[in-house]
Amino acid sequence: MGIRGRGEVHVSWFLRGLRKGIKTEKFPKEKPLEIAPWSTRLKGDGEVDCPTNAIKGGKWEPGRCVFCRRCYPAYRPTGDVDIYAVGRTVGLFKKSFYLYPIDVGTCGGCNLELKAISSPQYDMTRFGIFFTNTPRQADALVVMGVMTERMREVLFNAYEAMPKPKLVIALGACAISGGIIGAGSEIKPDVVIPGCPPNPYTILKALIEARTRKGEEK
Ligand code: SF4
Ligand code: SF4
Repeated sequence: MGIRGRGEVHVSWFLRGLRKGIKTEKFPKEKPLEIAPWSTRLKGDGEVDCPTNAIKGGKWEPGRCVFCRRCYPAYRPTGDVDIYAVGRTVGLFKKSFYLYPIDVGTCGGCNLELKAISSPQYDMTRFGIFFTNTPRQADALVVMGVMTERMREVLFNAYEAMPKPKLVIALGACAISGGIIGAGSEIKPDVVIPGCPPNPYTILKALIEARTRKGEEK
């Protein structure tokens, strides 16, 4: 059972959708309808035996956390999805924001949650966010997974093929910090979206902010 957005009991969105037709959530104007309890902000006290050193000196670092739950019950999920960080933005993608996802070594989890935001429930297209199958038409490169040897050149070629201005988004603990088995994406990200895998709400909110917030062009 997930953390309820407004303290009430909801049937699953899927069943409601079947009964009433396609229905899109009002997020982010309204709180998340249904949310998995993990992959949201953790809060707690004390030192724990964290496999990724995501907790140091009692401070939790979302980009290192693989949400393994080993620190429970000292640290508990809060349901707060605002765990992303938007650094550089270019302020040019207000009308449309095209994403080119690249998998450099995932388990498949990040890919599924990213895909989920195109579903009727979240519907990223209402914010002018789309996927593209070519880096030549992309505004942002979405990197997922640990950096694998065979994908290094592919990743850098994709980045080079993108027109300027362009953003790099690191999606998930593997791309941000290497998770528990490797190194991060190796291209400095402008936006980091923590989680293992990230929550669709976190992904959507981070992308909306990356798309609309005015920033400096490189
Ligand atoms: S959930 Fe796991 S990785 Fe995250 S802080 Fe707790 S022990 Fe560390
Ligand atoms: S961050 Fe987690 S879900 Fe995403 S690729 Fe790595 S292990 Fe899989």
